[in-house]
Amino acid sequence: LAQLFRPLDLLGMVYRTVRQGVIDMGAMFDLIDTPSEVVDAPGAPPLAVARGHVRFEAVEFGYDAGQPILKGIDLDVPPGTTLAVVGPSGAGKSTLARLMYRFYDIGSGRITIDGQDIRAVTQDSLRAAIGIVPQDTVLFNDTIGYNIAYGREGAGEADIAAAARGAAIAGFIERQPEGYATRVGERGLKLSGGEKQRVAIARTLLKNPPILILDEATSALDSRTEAEIMETLEAIERGRTTVVIAHRLSTIVHADQIVVLEAGRVVERGSHADLLAHGGLYAEMWARQAAESGEAEAESAAA
Ligand code: ADP
Ligand code: MG
Repeated sequence: LAQLFRPLDLLGMVYRTVRQGVIDMGAMFDLIDTPSEVVDAPGAPPLAVARGHVRFEAVEFGYDAGQPILKGIDLDVPPGTTLAVVGPSGAGKSTLARLMYRFYDIGSGRITIDGQDIRAVTQDSLRAAIGIVPQDTVLFNDTIGYNIAYGREGAGEADIAAAARGAAIAGFIERQPEGYATRVGERGLKLSGGEKQRVAIARTLLKNPPILILDEATSALDSRTEAEIMETLEAIERGRTTVVIAHRLSTIVHADQIVVLEAGRVVERGSHADLLAHGGLYAEMWARQAAESGEAEAESAAA
């Protein structure tokens, strides 16, 4: 009988933890213990990262059969360059990031890194090469130090503190009576969305991966903290292949290429200047955000 109840207990626990946003995707797969649909090919070698050339070739994907989410996606991100992905909510931007990290396998087409199909290499080696700052960061029920160090095994205190400084979260941590030993999560300190985002950025700084994915990584931050962190992010993007999914277009003006995704298709691509001149969806989004930030400035000046 006890055994019969266990799965229910476990589900209840998963539900509570997920609801409180304190668990990491990988840990969640471990917890529910369902074999993930993504498996290593027999005898798969590790990914050999040369310079981090990322390509999507005619990629099709849907979470459910008969419901395509991404349609005929072609992307080419040369080594060391930054690709920005923008577009309306629900367009498939986060899905693109999840596919690169191989949380799901694609329906057809190919995703390659330095010419190797990501389905042909081990998941561990793929995920070791990619740092991802997800849209919604979920933390482990552990100390804040552990949550940052999770990015790299064997990281020392000095490295953890340096990463925390880069992510503008060191001051906040040092003000806690227990510092880096402060527990976060269910029975510990509750962090705001912006604080969790900064922990995820610190984790990625520490991991120092050759390939970087930022999924609206600063969307929960106020514009002052965002400006502070943007400098660090720009520094780590330099010389590294980066896919940045942006909410505020002002943060991606200097990207090497920008693609506009709408309903699962690339509808525009080019530089910021190209896209403004084109006068399409990007130009429209740009004008709308410029008007909004103008209003915000006028409001704060009036206050
Ligand atoms: P964006 O990041 O551009 O806002 P997403 O990639 O999150 O968009 O989502 C694209 C589409 O896929 C949306 O219609 C969304 O509802 C759907 N979707 C996202 N995640 C899942 C999932 N796990 N299962 C089923 N549908 C999903
Ligand atoms: Mg998204």
